[in-house]
Amino acid sequence: MPAQDVIQSAISEFGSSLAILTSFQREGVVIVDLVMRELMNGNSARIPILTIDTGKLPAATHRMIDAVEQRYGVAVERICPDESEVAAMVGDHGENLFYDSVPQRMLCCNVRKVRPLTRRMSSVGAYFAGLRREQGGERLGIEEIDRSGTQVKISPLADWSAADVERYTRDQNLPVHDLYSAGYTSIGCDPCTRATAVGEGERAGRWWWESDADKECGIHFTPDGRAERTVDVLLRDLLTRTATA
Ligand code: SF4
Repeated sequence: MPAQDVIQSAISEFGSSLAILTSFQREGVVIVDLVMRELMNGNSARIPILTIDTGKLPAATHRMIDAVEQRYGVAVERICPDESEVAAMVGDHGENLFYDSVPQRMLCCNVRKVRPLTRRMSSVGAYFAGLRREQGGERLGIEEIDRSGTQVKISPLADWSAADVERYTRDQNLPVHDLYSAGYTSIGCDPCTRATAVGEGERAGRWWWESDADKECGIHFTPDGRAERTVDVLLRDLLTRTATA
């Protein structure tokens, strides 16, 4: 189904319980543009643009947020971690704990990303994401409308190629994250992302110091589950202390 049809169908089904969740990579900006066009065409739904501000984003991502706010005249909603949880984590493990072990990296992703996102998404019924099947891995089988999770995930670009995204970005003169021109192919937190070399996978620059088996994502599972069990213990200890502080 064409992306605009997916968006129209989602807006008519979910209305103002929808949100856009983006980190302002190319696909996310295309989604913002497509949805804003639909809203400017007279649809009265109010659809917030959400982004996770971990406190570790590169300056270029903040510039992208500013550029999108100016272009569309909207305020991007920054989802921030709980300050007391961050302070407890840094006090226990140091500011750069993510380099020390996979469980500590997952603890940081839990505290700075997963927990604040889960809290905010509890009031969201469905959300737009910029996933494409061509990105491979777990994304090969994505549905345009995925009802399997707590929130319905809508991926209007599921069928798009990287060239489609680049063409749309160029044709519509959309803002582009500065780090692409520095060789980045996937953009996350500043200390955990680097540029990729020719021939490396799109996400090779994320948590580059970990082995491929370890680094799927902060909320996914390693094959034997060992890291998750360890991070569960770290997180439980931390939350117990912050709850009683
Ligand atoms: S990507 Fe790195 S800095 Fe960002 S939340 Fe995860 S471990 Fe922490």
